[in-house]
Amino acid sequence: MLRLPPFAYHRPATVEEAVALKAELGSEAMFVAGGTDLLPNMKHRLFEPAHLISLRGVEELRGIREEDGALRIGAGETLTAVAESRAVQMLYPALAEAAAHVAGPQLRNMGTLGGNLCLDTRCTYYNQTEFWRKALGYCLKKDGTVCHVTKVGRKCVAAHSADTPPVLMTLDATLTLAGPGGRREVAVKDFFVADGIRNTVREPDEVLTEIRIPLSSARRRQGYAKLRQRRSIDFPLLTVAVAADVDDDGLVRSIQGAVTALGSRPRILTGWDAIASGRRLDDEVVEALAERAHAQCHPLENIIVDPDWRRAMVPVYVRRALSMLAPTGEALCV
Ligand SMILES: Cc1cc2nc3c(=O)[nH]c(=O)nc-3n(C[C@H](O)[C@H](O)[C@H](O)COP(=O)(O)OP(=O)(O)OC[C@H]3O[C@@H](n4cnc5c(N)ncnc54)[C@H](O)[C@@H]3O)c2cc1C
Ligand code: SF4
Repeated sequence: MLRLPPFAYHRPATVEEAVALKAELGSEAMFVAGGTDLLPNMKHRLFEPAHLISLRGVEELRGIREEDGALRIGAGETLTAVAESRAVQMLYPALAEAAAHVAGPQLRNMGTLGGNLCLDTRCTYYNQTEFWRKALGYCLKKDGTVCHVTKVGRKCVAAHSADTPPVLMTLDATLTLAGPGGRREVAVKDFFVADGIRNTVREPDEVLTEIRIPLSSARRRQGYAKLRQRRSIDFPLLTVAVAADVDDDGLVRSIQGAVTALGSRPRILTGWDAIASGRRLDDEVVEALAERAHAQCHPLENIIVDPDWRRAMVPVYVRRALSMLAPTGEALCV
């Protein structure tokens, strides 16, 4: 049985208290929300914080409501709450679907949207027990000097494996970070960086407090498709999110696609507007978008599934996501 390392547990009631505690305890402390990712990682000794600062008692991190032209979702809302929110289902069906397809029901009841955005990257050579990693000589991301994926590279390429960020990117969502220097707003598109060791611009002493999605994005038709080994609890092997502004004549005004689970950050697919703007989403356009995505995506051996097969699945899942841009705006997960 894998046991947790010892730690002291703190339960602040406000964001300010949480930030002050982190400033006091320094690098010995980490924030924890649902704990569905951090606690297993602690059992694997990937993190050994002497202090955990729980965000579960912070009221400000709760609530899903319309506010100032946006839907504001508290970072501490569970994935179940997001998936079952009537407002999210009506306005952003792709987000409701993405949240509903994270892990399994128990994990969604505990796991939060904020934790999903701050999720650590994953890799075959990293998400293993201490014993297993030690036998291999560890790796760049934790305790070692070599990347077993790239062999020669000096950079970690562990996979970003969270389902909701690609959808939030195609909806132009922003998030708020609160730290010792005050609060700042960051577009979800600018939140991630291509570094498997630390793949967001969030500083370790910042709390993610809320996610805001413009109400204007609710006019977009949305789609979401997830490739995974089983139709149950698995992390994504590939997630595709798409959103399009379509006029009354069925002509595309603008279109966005985002993919994740391939590299260290989710990425926006480029060149889509040039292909689809002013045209109908007919077979020819869908095929051109799928081909464009295929040309841009190059999965690595960072998870246990063959990268060539994952690459071959990119156009398949782009087509599936695009097929969900039905006039009713309904999004379905495949
Ligand atoms: C078996 C299994 C299957 C899974 N499948 C999936 C899947 O299919 N798709 C998927 O996306 N995820 C999956 N997960 C991962 C995880 O359950 C979810 O990503 C969940 O949303 C994480 O949220 P949490 O609140 O539990 O995060 P935690 O584990 O509490 O925290 C994760 C990280 O985020 C930081 N953090 C959390 N909240 C904040 C905040 N508000 N401000 C600052 N930092 C914060 C923590 O310090 C930690 O570093 C799976 C996990 C397991 C164990
Ligand atoms: S990509 Fe390389 S450095 Fe990163 S976790 Fe995997 S083996 Fe380690």
